[in-house]
Amino acid sequence: MQMTAVKKETSAKGCRVTTSEVPNDLKPNEVLIKVLATSICGTDVHIYKWDKWSQKRVKPPYIMGHEFAGEVVELGSDVTKVKLGDIVSAETHLVCGRCEFCQRGEYHICENTKIIGVDTDGCFAEYIKMPEFNLIVNRKDVHPKYLSIQEPLGNAVHTMMHFDIKEKDVAVVGCGPIGLMGVNIAKALNSKKIIAIEVNPYRIELAKKLGAHVVINPIEEDVTKRVLEETQGRGVDVVCEFSGNKSAIEAAFKYVKPGGKMSMLGITEDDITFDISNDIVFKGVTMYGVIGRLLFDTWDKVGYLINNHMLDLENIVTHVLPLEDVEKGMEIMMSGNSGKVVLIPNHKE
Ligand SMILES: [Zn+2]
Ligand SMILES: [Zn+2]
Repeated sequence: MQMTAVKKETSAKGCRVTTSEVPNDLKPNEVLIKVLATSICGTDVHIYKWDKWSQKRVKPPYIMGHEFAGEVVELGSDVTKVKLGDIVSAETHLVCGRCEFCQRGEYHICENTKIIGVDTDGCFAEYIKMPEFNLIVNRKDVHPKYLSIQEPLGNAVHTMMHFDIKEKDVAVVGCGPIGLMGVNIAKALNSKKIIAIEVNPYRIELAKKLGAHVVINPIEEDVTKRVLEETQGRGVDVVCEFSGNKSAIEAAFKYVKPGGKMSMLGITEDDITFDISNDIVFKGVTMYGVIGRLLFDTWDKVGYLINNHMLDLENIVTHVLPLEDVEKGMEIMMSGNSGKVVLIPNHKE
């Protein structure tokens, strides 16, 4: 049987809406899932643009996409974790289970990780197969367009919740889709003051709507000075870094409070110079590198926030398009004028 699928076909900019065989070679531990909604990640945009990172990492042709929610329609012979009809989402990192880190339960730093939609066929398609280990069963009363964003939401949760932010002053640096989710998580967790830092006017407005008390635009004002003003000269307790921007990161070292915490998710392209003695050692700062999601502790937290209606998902998902309009979705993402962009496959049966 054929299905519609979005493929990265060649080593060049773009992608193509085409057809592909529905996966029909389930291993005993694998599950076939009918994709109900899939969302576009910054990673997909990198691959679409064919930037330096993707040229090194990605081997076309293959099916793009990794964030989704879907219905279980077929089970491998050994599957016990899910049943037919379950609405599932998936951890996108395929881990080996055998390396030192997996053996310790630290699957998020598995040294043999493969990512669906990057290293293997992904979910910009009508169907995808996944190992049962990776699946999370969702409640059925939440729309799949919201369930599809749980993977990046997991990145935001992992970044925001590693350190305690309840009743603390928090800086959310960079309000792309994941930073915006971060703002909303800080609101849900009752942070004292949420200071967002962002340049794009659309995202500045969205950050305010999602709970930022203050949004600072570094093009218009000195971020460090303003953060100190907003925190009685003390700085923030926790910095959550989503931007990967050199000057934004360098500023964060100056306005994090002594004894403060820094949770780092943004990927930098430039080398960052900082003063280890004064910015980390003498200040007693703790830094945490965020990679993926903790399996499955982060997913439990994501489920808790969604199931208790603690997040404003209606404002986080700003665009919903048919899967066939994937290129339009990529353009919207590249414009910066969006939160999450969700694609819906049009199943033809
Ligand atoms: Zn993603
Ligand atoms: Zn491993």
